[in-house]
Order: sequence, then C-alpha cells, then structure tokens
Amino acid sequence: MRRILMHVGPSVGSYEVLLKSVKEDVGFGSPEFVEAMRSALEGVRYVMGADNSFTPFIIPGSGTSAMEAVTTFLREGDRVLVASNGLFGDRWRSILERYPVKVDYIGSEPGRSISAKSIQEIAESKHYRMSFFTQVETSTGVRAPVPELVKEMKKVSEFVALDGVAAVGGEESCASKWGIDYYVTASQKAIGAPPGAGISTVSGRLMENIPERSVSGYSLDLSNWKRTMESFLDGKGSYFATPPVHVILSLDYALRLAREETMDKRVRRHIASRDQIVEGIEEMGFETVAEPGLRSSTVTGVLTGKISPGDLLAASLRRGVEFAPGVHPALAGRYFRIGHMGWITEKDAAIAVHVLRGALKEVS
Ligand code: PMP
Repeated sequence: MRRILMHVGPSVGSYEVLLKSVKEDVGFGSPEFVEAMRSALEGVRYVMGADNSFTPFIIPGSGTSAMEAVTTFLREGDRVLVASNGLFGDRWRSILERYPVKVDYIGSEPGRSISAKSIQEIAESKHYRMSFFTQVETSTGVRAPVPELVKEMKKVSEFVALDGVAAVGGEESCASKWGIDYYVTASQKAIGAPPGAGISTVSGRLMENIPERSVSGYSLDLSNWKRTMESFLDGKGSYFATPPVHVILSLDYALRLAREETMDKRVRRHIASRDQIVEGIEEMGFETVAEPGLRSSTVTGVLTGKISPGDLLAASLRRGVEFAPGVHPALAGRYFRIGHMGWITEKDAAIAVHVLRGALKEVS
C-alpha cells in the first residue's frame, strides 16, 4: 500500500524529485553539481521573492542550521527581539540565548498571533539590532500577518529576520517587497525536496553589515560561505565545507518545477488543498487550532474534542495516511497536525479527509 505522508515536513513526496539525487560519481566540483547549485541558488531567490540584491545561501544541515547562521550578523551585547507564536518561534529564543546577546521575548496564545500592538508595547523606547519571527508556526498552523508585523519591527529594529521554514514554496513569500533582511527555509518542507539543506537569503543591506567580530561559531558563519555561494552563482565551483551534493541535485529539480509551475499557481494549489482539508475536518465536528483568519496554507492543527488524537493518528496510519502529532505543550493530548505542502494535490487532500473520516468512525 502506498503511504501518503501528510506530516509537517518532510511532507507529500515526489519520486521524480527524489530520483534526481541518484547519480553516481558527482562531486562538489563536478560540472553537473556546479550547474545544479547555480540554478538552485537562483531558484531560492525565486521562491523567496528575493531580488538580485539578496545573497542566497544553501548550506548543509536543516532549517535550524539556517536559523542559527543568523549569528553571523550579531555582535556581543546586541539587543534582539523574538516575537513567537509557538514552539518554533521559541526556537529563535533558544538559539539566540546560547550567544552573548540580550534577548527580549513576546509570545502569543496557541492559535493566535503576536500583533503589531504587542510589538509596540515591548519595544517602547528600545532599539534592537534585529527582530525575529515565524511565517507559519508549525506547532499550531498559524500564519503570522507578515507585512503588518514587519512594518512595526522596522520601527524598532535595524534588521528583520523571518523563519519561512514551513512556508516558502507554498505560501506567498516576498523578501524584497516585505523588506525582510534574513529569510530562512529548509529543503524538505513546501519546496518538496529531501531534508539536508538549510536555506536562506540575505538582503544587500545586511550583507554590508557583517560585523568584523560576530558572535557566530565557525561552520555556520556565513562570511565563510559567502565566497562559495558567489562563486557558484557565477557558474564556478568552490569549497568551504562539503555541500549535501545529492540533496542539492533534488533541490535544484524541485526549484525548477516551482519556477515552471510559478509561485502564483503554487500558492493557489496550497490554498485549495487547505480549504478542502478544513472543510472536511469541520464536517467531522473538529476545529482548527488557528483562528479562521490566521490559517496557514501549509499546516493545519486540528482540535479533536473528546476523541484521542493518538488513536486517530494510529487508525489513519493503518489506512495509509501519516499525520503529525501535536507538539504544543499547552494543547497536549487535544490536537494533531496535518501537513499539506510541497507536492500536495487536491486528490491527496480528498484522500486525507476520507481516511480521517474512516479513522474517526473506528475510534469513536
Ligand atoms: N521553523 C519552523 C517553522 C519549522 O517548522 C521547523 C521544522 N519543523 C524548523 C524551524 C526547524 O527546521 P528543521 O527541522 O529543518 O531544522
């Protein structure tokens, strides 16, 4: 039986994309790889809505590595603001607190989002080197009102960093238009490639502000990776540390497909699948964790009322669809999550709803 993975990343897969990684005798200096890296870096700019003034980075690791690499731009003693909508928003704080910077933090109730007003309140007469937040909070499925929050953050901080790990490739993403300075994602979520690469784009203004002595370590210091990325963009090989060669072959192909499909159509495809899933779960009497106006197009948190989410997930898996458990401690035992991103189609969404309905009958 073919299983459909509707987890929150890796999510709905594509053999076609995976198979692009199966190539023997390709090294980081081989012409096929140099071309894949060049085109993947341009593809990253495309899916992130970042113009050519942004420097794209693809480094080994995952979304977390790309997040932590932001330390390249921070100096000892810098004050930063973390605005969090849940567990993954909190990850910014967990990372930054490992470094000698001062972290101010605001959070929100699960299912809601921090507001422009909450930023105004905490930032009263303060100035930050950088503000941090999350586009789609994967622990709840909440999409932050990005343009509104960026506008407010720009008033109180020099730079703005956005975690688009569960968004880029499926949600509208406009680094240039929104004025994001550090925009992060990973290979395995809505872009739909295998895990293994941390991805970011950095604004020209932030690149010009790499401090002489940053707080970063060695392998995630983007000033070490800068020349390598510029070289690949120029169609030439370069080395700082070994890139995940085979992941990048797949990633490049996934990004080529994204350009072919266009982001407009991709965003609409994700919305259509999300709508179908939300309609289905509401028909079953469930509710979404996210307030209706804040529902993301990539992740849906489902409150299951009296039904045990663990039993539902087990019964769904027996029927061939794997969903994700809940992770937000404030909602423990009350919800699960559906990932609907990457190569999701309305057909997958229909199957997911059908399977869930069968599982619900079994466990009620
Ligand atoms: N941020 C968000 C919003 C995420 O969903 C995730 C992964 N679930 C991460 C960061 C961390 O990414 P990774 O697991 O690729 O390190």
